[in-house]
Amino acid sequence: MTTRIPRRTFLQRSAALAATAAVHPTLVATQARAAAPAPAEKTIGLQVGAVSFVDEGVDRVLDILQEKGAVNTIFLTTFTYGRGLAGRQIPGQPFPDHGSQESDEKTFHGGNYATPHAEFYKNTVLRDTRAPEHGDFDVVAAVLPAVRRRGMKLFCSVEDVFRPDIAGVNETAEVDLSGNKTGTLCLYHPDVRAFWTGLVTDLCTSYDIDGILFFNERNGPLLRALGTSHAQDIASARVTCFCEHHRRAAREQGIDFDRAHAGYSKLNEFVQAALSDRRPSDGYFVEFWRLLVEWPEILAWNRLFDAAKHEVVAEVNAAVKAVRENLEVGFHIEHVNSFNPIFRATRRYDDLAGRADFLKVVAYNNCGGERYARFIRNVGSNVFRDVPHEELLRFNNHVLGYGDEAGMNELATAGLSADYVARETRRALAGVQGKCRILPGIDIDIPTDPTSRKATPNDTYAATAAALAAGAHGVILSRKYSEMRLANLAAAGRAVRDSA
Ligand SMILES: [Zn+2]
Repeated sequence: MTTRIPRRTFLQRSAALAATAAVHPTLVATQARAAAPAPAEKTIGLQVGAVSFVDEGVDRVLDILQEKGAVNTIFLTTFTYGRGLAGRQIPGQPFPDHGSQESDEKTFHGGNYATPHAEFYKNTVLRDTRAPEHGDFDVVAAVLPAVRRRGMKLFCSVEDVFRPDIAGVNETAEVDLSGNKTGTLCLYHPDVRAFWTGLVTDLCTSYDIDGILFFNERNGPLLRALGTSHAQDIASARVTCFCEHHRRAAREQGIDFDRAHAGYSKLNEFVQAALSDRRPSDGYFVEFWRLLVEWPEILAWNRLFDAAKHEVVAEVNAAVKAVRENLEVGFHIEHVNSFNPIFRATRRYDDLAGRADFLKVVAYNNCGGERYARFIRNVGSNVFRDVPHEELLRFNNHVLGYGDEAGMNELATAGLSADYVARETRRALAGVQGKCRILPGIDIDIPTDPTSRKATPNDTYAATAAALAAGAHGVILSRKYSEMRLANLAAAGRAVRDSA
């Protein structure tokens, strides 16, 4: 296990060192070096899914990750129906220089790539989730012994991405503004809560792993309505969730369900008017702010979503610790947290630090340019429609504390810089106030549009080095090995070794 110095001890040592400094500067320098974590203790993680081990062999993949990437921790995609973490390269993108060169578009299914044990799913209708595409292959059982022989660690990654044809999804699905069921699960549904705690308890009980990395990239209704995440379209008529469980949760928190529904209907009208260029007489921003003033339930309803999402993280954490106290839980903080100030305001790093042992803070720089530009275009089409995109970008750079990044026309082709990675790392470290570790997510060949930035070894080296030099407790190379080119992986590994 990684040696972690408890914060109180660390502070006492620091104070003692400071007191000694005046007398014995040389001694202090030696002690300070000894007290700093050795590079080998940093978590050098990499995300990888079952298909890579099936295609390339367990030992061969681990050899490559250790030798090229200096990886000491495997974040093994164990549960998801999403292609961001599981499966081969996504369709339409070039294959990397390893693994099968054939698309799994037709065979990819997703689900639980380990073996579900029925006793952990008694309190949920979501009990039939075994991923079928690799037959009896159990990825955790197959990879864990080889990981242990090498002295590496293994975390199971689990992600809140479902598909509509799975048993139980219809019963637990969110309900949108028009009363239609969606493909996403309601986080206030008791069966959904029981599924997440059951799944992580199953994994931690059935396998001798080191912990769980939990992913939930879903946004609340406000951002969904405005399309203010990089990956989202503007879907103001399809915001969620207006189900009976949300009605109950709202009542418990003193929020008026009907006024929330009416507020989101007004917001939908505002967004649709903006998209068809019908400017309110007082301007777009003023009209938006007026909606928030007159319908405070809009923000309250968004907060209700965030509360459920973070309650799930806390419940996952408690469930994992109930199996073994020394198991660790990490929480993936999605990219939108980095470039959307409205989202940022809803994420307190110090609060999240109390729910997890480490935060994987996404600081993907290459694809970041394209994603940030998309965010600017989306908010620039409704709330900030009166502001030219270039000026909106510059304003946002100041608000977010970014440095000298490319302008609107070059942003997607330039990507974001290594300086951006360093700044986001430092912000997270300052935010958590020492209460948990920060492992920035490093972009290695995350797919982008054909004309947008593609990772080079120099980019990858610079981003990895920047995160480590900024004081990160390690890095997590992302998103998945099956989309990474080996030269870029090796560049990340060189940066890790050079930082030692
Ligand atoms: Zn609901």
